[in-house]
Amino acid sequence: MDRSAIVAALSDDDPDQLKQLRCRAYEVKVRHFGRTVHLRGLIEFSNRCVKSCFYCGIRRDNSAVDRFSMTVDEIVQCALNSHRLGYGSVVLQSGERRDSDFVAFVDEAVRAVLKASGGELGVTLSCGEQSTDTYARWRAAGAKRYLLRIETSDPRLYAALHPADHSFADRVRCLWELKTIGYQVGTGVMIGLPGQTAEQLADDILFFGELDVDMIGMGPYIPHGETPLAASAVNFDKARNFQLGLKMIALTRLALGDVNIAAATALQALDPSGREKGVRFGANIIMPNVTPTVHRQRYQLYEGKPCLTDEPDACGNCLDARLRAVGERVALNEQGDSPHFVRRTEKT
Ligand code: SF4
Repeated sequence: MDRSAIVAALSDDDPDQLKQLRCRAYEVKVRHFGRTVHLRGLIEFSNRCVKSCFYCGIRRDNSAVDRFSMTVDEIVQCALNSHRLGYGSVVLQSGERRDSDFVAFVDEAVRAVLKASGGELGVTLSCGEQSTDTYARWRAAGAKRYLLRIETSDPRLYAALHPADHSFADRVRCLWELKTIGYQVGTGVMIGLPGQTAEQLADDILFFGELDVDMIGMGPYIPHGETPLAASAVNFDKARNFQLGLKMIALTRLALGDVNIAAATALQALDPSGREKGVRFGANIIMPNVTPTVHRQRYQLYEGKPCLTDEPDACGNCLDARLRAVGERVALNEQGDSPHFVRRTEKT
């Protein structure tokens, strides 16, 4: 899809056009992945962060947040819960820290999860910007995927969303380094930010293509009251952002084909069937939260995060029924690697 076609689709609210877009994207999803969805158990293991992104509820400067860090044993318990429920992979996600204690902790946690699951779980990390050595160390520990959202591919918008010492160029450099080191690399953006245009979102999709990423994790922007950006989001339009989120999934599927695309939890925060609708628009991954409920409440990047009190077993059953209702099934006990990664690494 070229830029003008993406811009036109993002700007067109005609219900028939939207349905056509959904059908085309879903057809491509089914061609690459069948009517199956892979699950990743999401473990939010620490809300401590050295950064202060203007949109994020757990930003360093939000003193109202009750900070926590899980132990390796707690992480392993969450991972084993995921394994028992048939989720083939886990995502270890945290705020950003680069100190040596944190780097060693993540290394130990990855190794412990792999050992406890007999190597059956795939491990994705989402721990922000790190040095090349750290990325390489965690890859050697056994993590095989890394998710680092660019949030927006427009450097000026990026600068407006972050303090001056948060560098767009560094973030892009990290993404290229992750590829070089051999991770399956994921990125993504926020959709419906204050002042964001259809052209910027179209450029985001082109950016994913230029980077040749393997996974996409993006979702609608939802304000958090204790952030600087919330003041600019007084006209936050839930329905508009939800629809934009679905369109971005569909257009990314049409543009990139065989990459893994997650139906973000933020979709469910805006619509109770949001994740299933995301699948119907072309997503093939869902990340049920397996963080202990006592910690989950303290990891709120945006307001209205769903499933705050649901135990993992309840989430698994609920998702299974919801996906069956839209003609999809959960691919149990499969890691669900990105076919795009397999194809691009075979080529090289
Ligand atoms: S978005 Fe990530 S890096 Fe930025 S403040 Fe939130 S947790 Fe930290």
